[in-house]
Formats: sequence, C-alpha cells, structure tokens
Amino acid sequence: MILCWISNSFSGPLQECYQNDRNYLDLKLKEDVLGPPPDNDDVVNDFDIEDEVVEVENREENLLKISRRVKEYKVEILNPPREGKKLLVLDVDYTLFDHRSCAETGVELMRPYLHEFLTSAYEDYDIVIWSATNMKWIEAKMKELGVSTNANYKITFMLDSAAMITVHTPRRGLIDVKPLGVIWGKFSEFYSKKNTIMFDDIGRNFLMNPQNGLKIRPFMKAHLNRDKDKELLKLTQYLKEIAKLDDFLDLNHKYWERYLSKKQGQ
Ligand SMILES: [Mg+2]
Repeated sequence: MILCWISNSFSGPLQECYQNDRNYLDLKLKEDVLGPPPDNDDVVNDFDIEDEVVEVENREENLLKISRRVKEYKVEILNPPREGKKLLVLDVDYTLFDHRSCAETGVELMRPYLHEFLTSAYEDYDIVIWSATNMKWIEAKMKELGVSTNANYKITFMLDSAAMITVHTPRRGLIDVKPLGVIWGKFSEFYSKKNTIMFDDIGRNFLMNPQNGLKIRPFMKAHLNRDKDKELLKLTQYLKEIAKLDDFLDLNHKYWERYLSKKQGQ
C-alpha cells in the first residue's frame, strides 16, 4: 500500500490517499487535468519579494481584505493562547513535510527533527499551523504526523486557505498570500509584529509582512534527504536564541544562519 499525499488537491476523506498503484495513476491523471493543488509548490518560480513589498504591504485594498478576514474567518482554538509567549506560524507542505513523495506512512515523509523542534519551540512560542490547503487535509496531515496528539507540545490553532488573501502585485499579477494581520487582528492581546515569526518555503506568502517571515529551505525528495536535512535542528536553536529578545523588530530573518553562528561564537 502506497500513500500518496499528492492527492491533496482533492477534498475527500483521508482514505482516498491510500491507493494502490493503479488508483494512484488515476489520481495523478485527474490532478493533471484539474491543475496543481492550491498550495502550488512552484518553489522555482518563487521570487524575491523585496521589490514588491513596498507597493503591496500598505495598500488600502489589501488592508481591507485583511480586516474582512479578521471579521469573518472562524478560528477554532485548540489550545488557548498563553500569556507572555511569542508566536510561531508554520507552513506545512515542504516546510514540515514532503507531500509530493510517496511512502507507506506519512511519517516517512516528515521533516527530520519535527517533534524535537516543536517540543523546544513550545517552551517559548505558541504554535500555529497555516497551510494553503483546506482544513480537512491539514487536520489529516497533522494527525498522520502525530503533531495534533503529541504530549510534549500543543497547537494553538490552525488556519487554512480561506484565511489567505489575494493581492495584486505590479510585476507578478495576482498572488495568494498569508497575511499575519489576520492573526494579529483576531488575537491582538497576545500577538503582534513584535513577537511573531513565520516559516514558509514560499517567500511570497509573507508579502504582506516581510519583516516576520523566514524562508525555510524546502524539504523535498524525503527518501533521499531524510538523513541529511538538518534545517529544523538549526532553526530550533535560532528560535531559542531570538526568544531571549523583547521584540523581533530589529531582526532580518534572511540572515538567520549568520545571526545564529555569531551568537554561538560568543
Ligand atoms: Mg509550503
């Protein structure tokens, strides 16, 4: 039995993932007809967001879309926000999980050190999952990976594609982004620009809040890279290091590795 998470462009029960080879090919065929999944993984087509940021970040129409999400998007709180904690927002596909490879269990496709990373992060941060797919899939993936049931940390809440907004960029046209303003608007007593960091393998997802985004190297080809990938191990240390700061306003997460080695060399 081969598990193919590639079918995540379909909204169906989890059982649909368990396919024999023939069914998998059918699904693959369907997907080719329907186009890529919503969290389309065109890592290679990702662009450097810096040029676009100024124009897009403060545009009134975009801020209006965020306030609409703040008002209308329903967040199901799994565990209450904790006083004094910072906020870590995590993408799923290619950030925590290689959803494009096939395996017998989802755990084989999990990014190395995931549970250790989340356990350590939870000491200083509330953890939020934000994936550009639908909630059924996010829940299924988190369950499969043992994230939603882990005794060593808790997920505060999860957001799906409906919490995202579409913005117009001068050079790239319409793109979907994950605006942290939705979280800051809904939970203003806990989270803000000052204490939030977001990991995503697609940089344009934080076009509306570039200061708070850290572009993580994508975890792909799990079977080849499982033994080599140390990204979450290193980021565990980075999160621990910056948790000591009162706020994140002076950080540039683009240079997180440089920051970490400087601190560790001290
Ligand atoms: Mg991703």
